[in-house]
Amino acid sequence: MISAELKERYYLALLTKDSEYEGLFYVGVTTTGVFCRPTCPARKPKFENCEFYETAEQALLASFRPCQRCRPLSHPNHVSDVVRMLVEAVEKEPEKRWKAQDFRALSIDESTARRQFKKRFGMTFVAYARARRMGLALKHIRSGRTVIDSQLSTGYESSSGFRDAFSRIMGAAPTQVDEERVLKAAWIDTRLGPMMAVADEQALYLLEFVDRRGLEREVERLRKRTHSAIVPGTTEPIQSIARELTEYFDGKRTAFDTALFCLGTPFQKEVWDALLSIPAGETRSYQEIANAVGKPGAYRAVAQANGANQLAIVIPCHRVINSSGELGGYGGGLTRKDWLLKHEKQNRK
Ligand SMILES: [Zn+2]
Repeated sequence: MISAELKERYYLALLTKDSEYEGLFYVGVTTTGVFCRPTCPARKPKFENCEFYETAEQALLASFRPCQRCRPLSHPNHVSDVVRMLVEAVEKEPEKRWKAQDFRALSIDESTARRQFKKRFGMTFVAYARARRMGLALKHIRSGRTVIDSQLSTGYESSSGFRDAFSRIMGAAPTQVDEERVLKAAWIDTRLGPMMAVADEQALYLLEFVDRRGLEREVERLRKRTHSAIVPGTTEPIQSIARELTEYFDGKRTAFDTALFCLGTPFQKEVWDALLSIPAGETRSYQEIANAVGKPGAYRAVAQANGANQLAIVIPCHRVINSSGELGGYGGGLTRKDWLLKHEKQNRK
């Protein structure tokens, strides 16, 4: 998260339209729901209505849409038509999942779109569209509103397609949850970006970075396996993990005490237990974990179980690397994996 001091500096840069800050931060304006670059010509918002982000993706994930005037997703001097068309198309239909035929319908070559997006914004178009979709769908979670209240279901209907997007990601629409079991989902801001936590009153079921590839699928699987509706809200384990994450990121904590519920096969659970025994500040190879669970030949199955972990950071799958010493994979992205490992090494007790 951005420090209070830095926020003040960013706000000053915003007031003075200081171009030196271009690309260093983006500002989300809570009253209008748009995000801008520092030099936006529009009237400047009050400090208390500003939220600052270091990347455009973070602003999108926090449910802001790009400003029409300063076009924060475009380079000041040149915007490719392809890119502009796609950004506009996403704004028209934020819930859409883009397929090859959608590009064809716009007469856009998919690989050109991918290349141009990546070049301009450091993320692919699909990542952009996903970030915008998730940002919108999670907006209400972020504000901590409960949808169990049937009155609110009307609100969803009126907000153009949001109800559909929400149902798709979170499970049953509020009116259908009646007798089902309910898990609560909450948004937690961390310095590595927003995370989503899902829990009941007893335990934490899921903790993932919101932009994690496949998060929607993961939530869907959790919903089905637990026969639950997942609705915005908070529970004791969510409050507990939010507190513990703050301590972890502040370097004051290396292990977590929040009760966990691990949904997996007996083999996966064995692997996850082995992960929990890796001390913070250290790493193990996939092979070492395979040895630790007594199945030295099951290297691939171990890697799969590692990737199936739904409790990021808490079950430290980021502490498993390739035998060669290379980072290997990480659902939350390699930049985060690298950051977490360095952070833990620095704070090793
Ligand atoms: Zn603007």
